[in-house]
Amino acid sequence: MATNPSTVSTGFARWSGYPGCEVLRCYAVVMSIAEIYRKSKHPIISFEFFPPKTDVGYRTLFRTIEELRELEPGFVSVTMGAGGSTRSKTVDLTIEITREIGLVTMCHLPCTGFRPTEIGHILDQLKAGGVHNVLALRGDPPQDDPEFQTPADGFQYANELVAYIAKRDDRDAFSIGAACAPETHPEAPDAATDVANIKRKVDAGTDFLVSNFFFENAHFFDFVDRCRAAGIEVPIIPGIMPIATVSGIRRMAGMNGTAFPAELETELDRVDGNDEATYALGVRWATMQCEELLAREVDGIQFYTLNRSPAAREIYQNLFGR
Ligand SMILES: Cc1cc2nc3c(=O)[nH]c(=O)nc-3n(C[C@H](O)[C@H](O)[C@H](O)COP(=O)(O)OP(=O)(O)OC[C@H]3O[C@@H](n4cnc5c(N)ncnc54)[C@H](O)[C@@H]3O)c2cc1C
Repeated sequence: MATNPSTVSTGFARWSGYPGCEVLRCYAVVMSIAEIYRKSKHPIISFEFFPPKTDVGYRTLFRTIEELRELEPGFVSVTMGAGGSTRSKTVDLTIEITREIGLVTMCHLPCTGFRPTEIGHILDQLKAGGVHNVLALRGDPPQDDPEFQTPADGFQYANELVAYIAKRDDRDAFSIGAACAPETHPEAPDAATDVANIKRKVDAGTDFLVSNFFFENAHFFDFVDRCRAAGIEVPIIPGIMPIATVSGIRRMAGMNGTAFPAELETELDRVDGNDEATYALGVRWATMQCEELLAREVDGIQFYTLNRSPAAREIYQNLFGR
């Protein structure tokens, strides 16, 4: 059994607000994620959420956060839709989780849809709302908007966004994360070029990297070796996606260029159409991956929760016994 991850110190006062959700209101000590990784002696467990589309979705999400909060995550992060499509919802939700629930948060910030002044405005809003961590992303064009165009004075690649944030007067107010793909970003001509491009992001001021999900740890370990050989020294956090549905995971893996090992492919065929068996397979596979990652002393693990808690909680229980 692995050591329990460290906790982030918070001071508590009784929550009195969000309907249908009995969480404690607490005031997080302002902490940058870069600092959390630097100071913690234990791996940092974190969770990713997305802004729901409906009120029911919000209720589900806040129940999920309430349940996952008991696991004392180092931080949680909130995605922003392609092209910045959920900008307000993402910013508001990230601030609400920070202020009302007291967790350390990170706001995902894809830059292709924004002009620099708009990015500046979002950063000002986040800082005023107590959010001091951003995941600086290029993002992808929204699939449902064929007219989408990057503004002429906008950002082409994530390294430009990182540089923009790092050059602000309030640089110290933010720790900056960036994305990476252990199996190589689908647009990159080859793995070495992709790592060279990741190095540009790190040289521009990235404090830590969070990876896309993968199902074979060897890809992650090889990727980390390539990054270290290229002089990338920041923490590289593996992203773990517990499989929820067979069709969903095949679609997402196809878009990202994520491979299924032969054994998992066979298992996916076996459980297809059986929700319970798919869930059990997802938990088992992710637990197996995490055990090996923790044994190899990763700085943390980021779970893609899809706004649900049961799989992440069960995996956590398997790993840490509580
Ligand atoms: C942990 C994680 C969270 C994510 N969250 C979101 C989210 O909330 N919202 C969202 O829209 N998307 C999100 N994404 C998806 C991400 O936006 C896509 O993967 C996107 O295609 C690439 O983003 P990036 O920041 O890695 O881009 P970049 O680092 O800009 O890389 C994109 C491609 O361009 C190449 N490249 C990079 N820099 C240069 C350069 N200077 N010159 C030439 N080529 C270059 C790279 O090799 C790569 O092939 C997330 C991805 C991850 C891994």
